[in-house]
Amino acid sequence: MAKKEFTLLSEYLYWSYANLAMAHAAVSKNAEKYIQISYIIRARLFKGLMQQTMNIGSIIDDERLKMKLPQICSYCGSADNLSVDHLIPKFKGGEETGDNFVWACRQCNSSKNKTDLMEWYNKKGTFPTLLLLRRYLKIIIDYCIKSGLMNISLDEARLLTLPFNLESIPQVYPKPSELKLWITEIKV
Ligand SMILES: [Zn+2]
Repeated sequence: MAKKEFTLLSEYLYWSYANLAMAHAAVSKNAEKYIQISYIIRARLFKGLMQQTMNIGSIIDDERLKMKLPQICSYCGSADNLSVDHLIPKFKGGEETGDNFVWACRQCNSSKNKTDLMEWYNKKGTFPTLLLLRRYLKIIIDYCIKSGLMNISLDEARLLTLPFNLESIPQVYPKPSELKLWITEIKV
C-alpha cells in the first residue's frame, strides 16, 4: 500500500495509530491479511481521532494489561538479566512514569542504547510487538498534545528537536501474519 502524504503532524501520528488498531484487530482474529473490515476500522478511527470524537486511550486499557504480562524483556522475551528501560530515553525527555518503563534484558538494552525505539527496529529490519508499539505511540501522541504540537505541519515538526524520531514512525504496517501482539507468543 502506498504511503499517504500528509500535511499535519496530527494526521501523520494518527494515521500510524489507526493502522496499529487495524493491525491489532486483524492479529487478534488470527487473520492472514487485511480485509475490507480492517480498512473500515482504520478509516473510522483515523476520522474519529482527527475530529476528536475518539481518543487514543479508547481501545484497550494498557495499564491493566501490563499487570497481566510476565516479567520478560519486552524486545526479545528473555527472562535473564532484566532491567528497566525507558521507551523514550531519559536524555530525550522521556518521563519517569510507568507508561515509559519496560523490562529489557542486558543484551537488548545495550543494543538499543540511546537509539529511538522505532529507529532501532528499522535498523534491525524487524517490527515491534503491537502492544509495545502502542505504548510508544501513545506516549508520543500524548507528548505532542500536551506540547500543543498536533496542529503544526509536518515540515515544521521536522525542524524541531523531538523526544522521538519522526521519520521512523511506521506509516505502513506489515501483514497481520507477520505481526505479534506480544512477545510471549513467539516464545516456543
Ligand atoms: Zn531482550
